[in-house]
Amino acid sequence: MVRKDARIWVEHPIHVWEGATVTSDYRSGVLIVKIDQTGEIRQIKITDETKLPPLRNPSLLIGQNDLTSLSYLHEPAVLYNLKVRFCDRNAIYTYCGIVLVAINPYYDLPIYGDETIMAYRGQSMGDLDPHIFAVSEEAYTKLERERRDQSIIVSGESGAGKTVSAKYAMRYFAAVGGNSSETQVERKVLASSPIMEAIGNAKTTRNDNSSRFGKFIEIHFDQQYRISGASMRTYLLEKSRVVYQSPDERNYHIFYQLCAAAHYMPELKLDHQDSFHYLNQGGCPNIDGVDDLKAFNETKAALSTLGVSESEQHQMFTVLAAILHLGNVHLASEPDADDQDSDGAYIDVEDEHLKTVCSLLGISKPELSRWLTHRRIASAHEVIVSRMDVRKAEFARDALAKRLYGELFAWLVQAVNRALDTGHAKRHFIGVLDIYGFETFEINSFEQFCINYANEKLQQQFNSHVFKLEQDEYIKEEISWKMIDFYDNQPCINLIEDRLGVLALLDEECRVPQGSDRGFVAKLHDKCAKYPHFLKPRFGDAAFIIKHFADNVEYQCGGFLEKNRDTVLEEQLESIRSGSACRLVRVMLADPEQTSSSATLPPPSRRRTTPSAPLASLTQPGRRASGQKQTVGAQFRASLSALMGTLSATTPHYVRCIKPNDTKQPFQFDAARAVHQLRACGVLETIRISSAGFPSRWLYQDFFQRYRLLCRYKDIDRANIKKTCSIILEKHVKDPDKYQFGATKIFFRAGQVAYLEKVRADL
Ligand code: ATP
Ligand code: MG
Repeated sequence: MVRKDARIWVEHPIHVWEGATVTSDYRSGVLIVKIDQTGEIRQIKITDETKLPPLRNPSLLIGQNDLTSLSYLHEPAVLYNLKVRFCDRNAIYTYCGIVLVAINPYYDLPIYGDETIMAYRGQSMGDLDPHIFAVSEEAYTKLERERRDQSIIVSGESGAGKTVSAKYAMRYFAAVGGNSSETQVERKVLASSPIMEAIGNAKTTRNDNSSRFGKFIEIHFDQQYRISGASMRTYLLEKSRVVYQSPDERNYHIFYQLCAAAHYMPELKLDHQDSFHYLNQGGCPNIDGVDDLKAFNETKAALSTLGVSESEQHQMFTVLAAILHLGNVHLASEPDADDQDSDGAYIDVEDEHLKTVCSLLGISKPELSRWLTHRRIASAHEVIVSRMDVRKAEFARDALAKRLYGELFAWLVQAVNRALDTGHAKRHFIGVLDIYGFETFEINSFEQFCINYANEKLQQQFNSHVFKLEQDEYIKEEISWKMIDFYDNQPCINLIEDRLGVLALLDEECRVPQGSDRGFVAKLHDKCAKYPHFLKPRFGDAAFIIKHFADNVEYQCGGFLEKNRDTVLEEQLESIRSGSACRLVRVMLADPEQTSSSATLPPPSRRRTTPSAPLASLTQPGRRASGQKQTVGAQFRASLSALMGTLSATTPHYVRCIKPNDTKQPFQFDAARAVHQLRACGVLETIRISSAGFPSRWLYQDFFQRYRLLCRYKDIDRANIKKTCSIILEKHVKDPDKYQFGATKIFFRAGQVAYLEKVRADL
């Protein structure tokens, strides 16, 4: 029961929680409290006595560098502790059990230099302040000690600092596992970052350098635990950005870099970025503090470091320029067409951009022009060629641009992999996963669905790992305990993966001739209503709701089918593929079934089946055994399953990045935003699992040191510390369920340490 002077947390509309002190013992239904900050006296109505306000931790525990060592483990305690560390101490890293919580400081802290790396080298996790280097060191030593592969799983929302954290982890491995030999493989590993950022990152309203793909990099180590190579898999590149950008956003950095360097390559006929439709829609050509020309030179240098030849680089830039010109090809209804109703698509024979696309790619202009405006429709008896309307033609052109970019991205990923594959057998690896966290926006579409599906899978793996570690610790310490009930999200995954689940129904709707987004949702409402994680929205029939572990998300069905099919007109592809004088284009677009190997540019057969990346990138059109193109959903499912298989054979380490405010202000902490993210990334769930068991653990010796003054002097037996601890506890904690004696530690239920602290302070 809450007594006078108890220090509690009460809800606050902005700060989420604020500190208060109880002014008189709780009596039925009402608690009278004084708000610490303002002195205001407030009455709090209590309708459910099992839900009294949460208690505050004793000051001894404030600012702890591991959240699970707090005595009261709940949301306000976690939030307050993080805030004190972040705002008052500029400590951006805090442990939460095995998770490293990293709050983006939006400020360059001097904590990443070589001397800091050396300070963390050889230290155990608890010895120094929490740090991304401490987690990296832990992974590296465990690799040596356990001879088991390791992984570092970084997640968080856009702008939270995932990519920065992943790069620091890689820097750490490059420093401690560096190989001074001539191959300098670690230099190549680090050079892969600017390349991937140039082609896969863009300015969004959330982050000036937002990664628009997920990536898993495996750093390989030899028998001496020196870096021997690396490999990378990518997930779900956001291809729609190639043809469309929202206000204040940009296309991929590489395009702007290329335009900034236009004068070096006059043959590409590039111009100012604003003159390209694919670059100017966001109305935001520049990024503060970024010099695109300088960045272009850095991208080129990194490509050279990775062995991409000048000629290959030039071919790459040619394809990129061709994409930009393709976007400027003017598709219009013929001005003087007899039929006024006709809005059939035409391209002027003099269209400069079409000419440039064809000359850059070395393809036939009439052929491309024809297939940009016509399509072939095959029925059972005949093949008809018909003119498309302008809207359809633009849509088809954009699909072609997206495909070309996706293929270029895939080719480059493979080129990077080729450079990082030193031919040495990999003995061990540490994988670093930099993948988008759970997302929920005003309007959620297929992309958010895939991202949240991935997060369900990762969360499941995380929950069961945390749970298992808890269990192992209890078994090791030989204490008896009841199974903790933890949230298993398998039912939600079933809803997505079952034979008649969301993905299967989506694929089915993509196959039927008259399939539509609405038809898909109708099927979902019909077949999935029985799943506890499925909800039908109260209004409308164009959406469905999934109850994810982090939140309920309403998905709008518009575009699901198209995005899942991800098709491009075969005739357009063929007109480029068959005739192109550009070798890279031929390799990129080659039909996997018909290709033999190629000397320098990697052949597609190899591209699609590197040993370490069985189902590498979603940007590559996968194929079923039948030769039919696999849907994006099916490919994503398979690549996730391969990833989960890889991760489950490693010892995982988790980094959860938190974005503290939306205005990029240094050391500003918006509590409401932080709570939301802590919930979405499972930190609060970890806290719940911990607090359901015995969250506080003290070694006998440590407990004795701090609390021996709680027993009479004559009861102290230095030769039997365990017995003395037992005397102290029997005297002060009446309920024997509140603690247990393990082999080396005493385990406490939540709140016990706070209580003992109070007794100690009152002495
Ligand atoms: P996205 O999902 O959009 O790719 P992200 O989580 O990868 O986002 P980052 O690109 O890593 O986010 O970080 C965004 C920005 O935040 C960085 O460009 C940098 O300015 C800042 N930032 C992140 N982490 C740190 C850090 N540890 N120290 C200083 N600044 C940081
Ligand atoms: Mg990123």
